[in-house]
Amino acid sequence: MPSFKVFAGVFASVISLGLSTLPAAAQADYPSRSITLIVPFAAGGPTDVVSRIVGDHMSRTLGQTIVIENTLGAGGTMAGARARDATPDGYTLITGHMGTHAASVALYPNLKYNPSTDFEPIGMIAGTPVLILARKDFPANDLKEFVTYLKANADKVNMAHAGVGSVSHVTCLLLNSILGIKPTAVPYNGTGPAMNALVGKQVDYMCDQIVNVVPQVQGGTIKAYAVGIPARSPALPDIPTSKEAGLPEFQASAWNAMFAPKGTPKPIVDKLNAALSKALDDPTTRKRLLDLGSELPEGQARSSQALAELVKSETSKWSTVIKAAGATN
Ligand code: ASP
Repeated sequence: MPSFKVFAGVFASVISLGLSTLPAAAQADYPSRSITLIVPFAAGGPTDVVSRIVGDHMSRTLGQTIVIENTLGAGGTMAGARARDATPDGYTLITGHMGTHAASVALYPNLKYNPSTDFEPIGMIAGTPVLILARKDFPANDLKEFVTYLKANADKVNMAHAGVGSVSHVTCLLLNSILGIKPTAVPYNGTGPAMNALVGKQVDYMCDQIVNVVPQVQGGTIKAYAVGIPARSPALPDIPTSKEAGLPEFQASAWNAMFAPKGTPKPIVDKLNAALSKALDDPTTRKRLLDLGSELPEGQARSSQALAELVKSETSKWSTVIKAAGATN
């Protein structure tokens, strides 16, 4: 008769066998049901739009529906916390961005997740240059007039953003600190609704990712003064760079990228990375993203490793900008 020790040993190895085979089977079958992709901002904004465009193609590659879940609040950090706490089985993912997965670290002393250590980076979706925008009837026809007006009327103007730590908040903090102004800030749950307020002339100005801006500029419903990148965007060739327009210090380009909770098995992360890359190679998906002004990653820039490094470098870059701007939450 086996001693308890031997029995316990056999029992333990059955359990460990079970633990190591079950995930392997689950990994091989992955995905066997629909995947939830958390979008930290309102429907219709840049994060939502790029997520739906690539999610649509990825769902065809993976053979399962990708359900978009807009989890709102606190500049996207509520969604970051929800994704951090999700089961790491590949069925809950998040589209993060320069705010949720970099800048928010400097603005939320009690941030409930660490963008560098609480996620498995899947890959970059798109780079998104940021533009300085105003309502259509704002009394300034170019960036120089805009700067002069803002400096003279800082106590009267208001600025829309998508919550503390969001791209629109942080990049306009950069703008405001260059100009030395502190206007009234009006938060929304995303720049989808913030753009509606700008088009509706309820707010004066905003800094936003290009994918939310191109249709409005083409339709003439808002003013765009400059894009914060070194060369003009092919999607908006008439809009000058900040350097051309006289404010070279305003350099602002954001990004959206896909992450899974820490501990998601590597084969699943690799499968998702490959599906994302396939979406970025698909001519129709590419065109949709490029027409909106996205800058698409190529080669090594699509790897999980490149995204891990980007999160670290962007966290440190924006923390310096935020400290220099003297901003706190
Ligand atoms: N572009 C927004 C931001 O300012 C978020 C969004 O609605 O996608 O972070």
